[in-house]
Amino acid sequence: MRYISTRGNAPAEFFCDILLGGLAPDGGLYLPETYPRIDAAELSRWRGLSYADLAFAVLSKFITDIPAADLKAIVDRTYTAQVYRHARPGRSAADITPLTTLEPGLHLLELSNGPTLAFKDMAMQLLGNLFEYVLDKRGETINILGATSGDTGSAAEYAMRGKHNVKVFMLSPEGKMSAFQRAQMYSLEDANIYNIAVRGMFDDAQDIVKAVSNDAAFKAKYKIGAVNSINWARVAAQIVYYFKGYFEATTSNDQQVAFSVPSGNFGNICAGHIARQMGLPIARLVLATNENDVLDEFFKSGVYRPRKTAETRVTSSPSMDISKASNFERFVFDLVGRDPAVVAELWRQVDAGDSFDLRGTPYWASLPGFGFVSGRSTHADRLATIRRVWETYGTMVDTHTADGLKVALEQRQAGVPMVVLETAQPVKFAETIREALGRDPLRPADFEGIENLPQRVAVMAADADAVKAFVAERC
Ligand SMILES: *Cc1c(COP(=O)(O)O)cnc(C)c1O
Repeated sequence: MRYISTRGNAPAEFFCDILLGGLAPDGGLYLPETYPRIDAAELSRWRGLSYADLAFAVLSKFITDIPAADLKAIVDRTYTAQVYRHARPGRSAADITPLTTLEPGLHLLELSNGPTLAFKDMAMQLLGNLFEYVLDKRGETINILGATSGDTGSAAEYAMRGKHNVKVFMLSPEGKMSAFQRAQMYSLEDANIYNIAVRGMFDDAQDIVKAVSNDAAFKAKYKIGAVNSINWARVAAQIVYYFKGYFEATTSNDQQVAFSVPSGNFGNICAGHIARQMGLPIARLVLATNENDVLDEFFKSGVYRPRKTAETRVTSSPSMDISKASNFERFVFDLVGRDPAVVAELWRQVDAGDSFDLRGTPYWASLPGFGFVSGRSTHADRLATIRRVWETYGTMVDTHTADGLKVALEQRQAGVPMVVLETAQPVKFAETIREALGRDPLRPADFEGIENLPQRVAVMAADADAVKAFVAERC
């Protein structure tokens, strides 16, 4: 299996060669040359596999340049009940992604039982083990530089901690994350993890990462890498749980399901789109946004209008607060019939700060065939949904999952089970839970008192040179 760029101007590469990088050299995103098709016989064989065995089966289709025995070992040590041990009371950690039935035909797929209690662990834990393996094979090291507003940074740090050939330098905006998120990151004691709190906003941290990455000499000398949401391996790892969720919510492969996905950068739902292209019987992919509704607007109108950074709203589902959706280009590549010239032209407009409009094109006419519907949710919707789910089912959901549920309930079809992806546990967003329910969220036992642990973080001005000096000194 080889990977091509959505913009058509980069050589095709194998998995391990794109694993450690980000964008393709032509500025596009990597996608498989073709999507592997899963026929009925294979789907039947996969039903009933454990999570790790299913992950191996799915990933083997996309990763053909790692020997099977090695890939199997990597997957087996990634998807264990020990790593995903934070299952809710009464649910089995051995399932890795347990399915909770709220009522007949309405389910939650719990993706947030990993080390940082958000779904990003599902892919990031695999990425950590793949990085370690490939770097070892090549006798190389990497220094990951990233910026986070919360979930991504902690997931990356917990995936890379203790790895002897990886260092992580993670920038966060000083004082802007929740106390729980700060404690998760800053209390890590691993020698290869460096937290840097920047005096500024998330965008200032992001700008520093871009400035450092644009300094080709510095980047090469200090082997700077990234683990951002456009990394293909993260998307690939996320395909697995769509299969798992499908098998859990159905009894036969003749049935269809719908998935509702709380969305920001379009990484999670992009994996669902690919699962559907592979032949998984998905009736609908329900895309849910919060007040930052750039994607809902596209699926309703055909107009993709990335927002100015200053237009991005700060909401109570902060991991979906985006101005443009970095993985969206992958879907548009498929929507325009995989014509890289069309994608390159559309993103020439996006990169110039403009929007594009597909209304009236054959591409827009083909959209219904892709199964997408969308909706948006507001702070008031979130509070109402958290309350309703708590009162009706006795289940507490986080703010992002509430957005997914709100839109899912609008898009349900008779006879089609709806699976809502649970993307974080409520304890990460305690303030809004207290606002909705007047009580504290549940907290998994090993997070008791985490806010009181000693913290290790370097605070500095929002200055790329200061960050470069800090990195250089430690590499
Ligand atoms: C990252 C994140 C999302 C959005 O996922 P995308 O892949 O960016 O669409 C939703 N919910 C939570 C809790 C997240 O951390």
